Amino acid sequence: MARVYNFSAGPATLPEEVLSRAASEMLDYKGTGMSVMEMSHRSKEFISIAEQAEADLRELLNIPENYSVLFLQGGATSQFSMVPLNLLRGRNSADYINTGYWSRKAIAEAKKFCEVNIAASGEETNFTSIPPRDEWKLNPEAAYVHYTPNETIGGVEFHEVPDVGDLPLVADMSSTILSRPVDVSRFGLIYAGAQKNIGPAGLTIVIIREDLLGGASSEVPTMLNYETHAKAGSMYNTPPTYSWYIAGLVFQWLKEQGGLERMAEINKRKAEKLYTFIDNSEFYNNPVDPACRSWMNIPFTLKNPELDGKFLELAREAGLVNLKGHRSVGGMRASIYNAMPEAGVDALIGFMREFEKKYS
Ligand SMILES: *Cc1c(COP(=O)(O)O)cnc(C)c1O
Repeated sequence: MARVYNFSAGPATLPEEVLSRAASEMLDYKGTGMSVMEMSHRSKEFISIAEQAEADLRELLNIPENYSVLFLQGGATSQFSMVPLNLLRGRNSADYINTGYWSRKAIAEAKKFCEVNIAASGEETNFTSIPPRDEWKLNPEAAYVHYTPNETIGGVEFHEVPDVGDLPLVADMSSTILSRPVDVSRFGLIYAGAQKNIGPAGLTIVIIREDLLGGASSEVPTMLNYETHAKAGSMYNTPPTYSWYIAGLVFQWLKEQGGLERMAEINKRKAEKLYTFIDNSEFYNNPVDPACRSWMNIPFTLKNPELDGKFLELAREAGLVNLKGHRSVGGMRASIYNAMPEAGVDALIGFMREFEKKYS
């Protein structure tokens, strides 16, 4: 069967080269006579896979030496509590920027642990734009500032890292990490669930500045303490070995593509093509302020929502799948992460043009 263009928001499409390589190594990984799934995480083969993955990620993101990279489980959602549990360090308040669905989730969880100051909110524009930095009301006593660089559902993305002075900046990069270069030294902590732009579900990556380790109080469960994982090389318990391995193959693939500068060029071009097509049409609409439109997740609506079902059905027949928008917003959404080839975006635009001709 031919592969489809899969626009799922996550778990999302993976590079075909990575899947083929994993398939070829499935039964016998480099002469071990077993698959990576069946190996001890303490075996020399797996340690070498793990170290290479970390080295490649460090190279891709140019991660400074004073940052630890952790390979964890529990999804980005577990980070919503791990961040306050570890970073409050005796303070009782944290700043959060509310730009939509995932920010709200992070905020709700943080409220269990501290006072949350919503320093800025996109609510006034129904989360179709990002409040300008000069309107943010940061609290100088905050333990950290948390924001969501890319709102996967609303399709709103920060195109610059906000300046928050000396406050540690914490970012939920689940749906934008590795889509472009980023200056890691601007952050106290970056986290991302793997299943959008890194690899399979089950792995969560945390990049943390080392001076922020060791601040959890003694009641914090061992597994929820970053220091536990930093000290144990992310092997305090059994890590998600297979997801880690596949993530490593994705990192190698990204290096082969020319790294993140090159990915940024491609991602920008893919996104601009689709936005330009939508903006020039009377039939489709994207509500997001052009200054903060996501390169990764592009929600759009049909002028006549009664055609939604037909659109999805014919798209599926054309090999373009998972275009249904999130249940909280309806409409459509095209997630076009690193692994979505430009040809997939071209095919989607071609299909949308034909559909518009037929049904407008
Ligand atoms: C998908 C997503 C999450 C949730 O990730 P899980 O790994 O399912 O916990 C959180 N934040 C953002 C921005 C996401 O895109």
